[in-house]
Amino acid sequence: MKKTVLREYAKLIVRCGANVQKGQEVMIYADLDQPEFVQLVVEEAYKAKAAKVMVEWNYQPLAKLHVRYQSLKTLGTVPEWQKARRQHMVDTVPCRIHIISEDPDGLKGMNMAKLAKSRQMTYPILKPYSDQLEGRQQWCIAAVPGKAWAKKVFPGERTSVAVEKLWQAIVSTSRVNEDSLKAWEAHNANLRKRCEYLNSLGIAELHYTADNGTDLTVGMIPEAMFCGGAEVSRQNIVFNPNIPTEECFVSPMRGKAEGIVYSTKPLCYQGQIIDKFYFRFEGGKVVEAKAEQGEELLNTLISMDEGAAYLGECALVPQESPINQSGLLFYNTLFDENAACHLAVGMGFADTIRDHHNKTLEECRKLGINDSMVHEDFMIGCDSMNIDAKTFDGKVVPIFRNGTWAF
Ligand code: ZN
Repeated sequence: MKKTVLREYAKLIVRCGANVQKGQEVMIYADLDQPEFVQLVVEEAYKAKAAKVMVEWNYQPLAKLHVRYQSLKTLGTVPEWQKARRQHMVDTVPCRIHIISEDPDGLKGMNMAKLAKSRQMTYPILKPYSDQLEGRQQWCIAAVPGKAWAKKVFPGERTSVAVEKLWQAIVSTSRVNEDSLKAWEAHNANLRKRCEYLNSLGIAELHYTADNGTDLTVGMIPEAMFCGGAEVSRQNIVFNPNIPTEECFVSPMRGKAEGIVYSTKPLCYQGQIIDKFYFRFEGGKVVEAKAEQGEELLNTLISMDEGAAYLGECALVPQESPINQSGLLFYNTLFDENAACHLAVGMGFADTIRDHHNKTLEECRKLGINDSMVHEDFMIGCDSMNIDAKTFDGKVVPIFRNGTWAF
């Protein structure tokens, strides 16, 4: 990929994505695949007057070794220095940039039960820190092509060609061009208009149906609003958490989901693939989860904690989204979730509550926002998807027809 395009992309991530502020600290989490690109992001962050930029490198083979050789007790322990580090983040509120590139199959063969148990042990220790940061941090997730990932998306190509093709797909769906900031402004205005209309309806429940057998009703929280594109942190800083993004999303009422929903794309969870699955909901909770591939992992996911079997997100994405139009299956949630309507099991977003800046996290959860250690999107949209909204005053309003906006 041309250096000028990469620079523009790095600038988009720093300025429009995380919106790094003068004097702010920046945490970058990245895989080892594209060090030169990470270097560009670091440089852009300093140009945006970041006080200090730190990079934490991930490497999937090491993650596998740690889980294999460390005892569960060691894996499940949070040492004091790590707590001090989290406390430092709570005190300084750095912005976070995640540059993802991981191999969708990169953790295949890992002992998932052991990993899940260790996460259940560390989560209660780490949760107070993340709760204190909730809504205060700007953050941004964007992607660069890793070799294994590129080969997964373009299996017939030589590695170098596959990487270049994946770069093309990433920059085009992320609206990287000569004036990306302007393109994002227009895109955000568009998403905002959709959300405003949805929020004007007073939606009590969404009813999803599709040819594949999906027939699901999900209850909404009266105080919740559809959001999309740019968000505003509690410090009043506008940022774009996902590059790309095409969704209008809301967090539904915990405990209100009835019916069955079928996946329409594979889900890559913890470096492993779950495919062709369905969930049956009763009283808001998944009571049956079946998959042709990865069923055990799917059941591990929804039993991570009490909230993991409840919904945390309903997102609307039309079939004409550029990511869907690319015709590619990315095996990566950041992209695939923006190609189709999706739901998420697990944690809901407190910042979808109206006036959440003046509410505590606890208050938002009392209104019906789900709480969990996981948040996992899964795709349910397809050409035949229809969605109707039942409003609080009893009207039925079409929201989606044949996989796209009905308004
Ligand atoms: Zn989403």
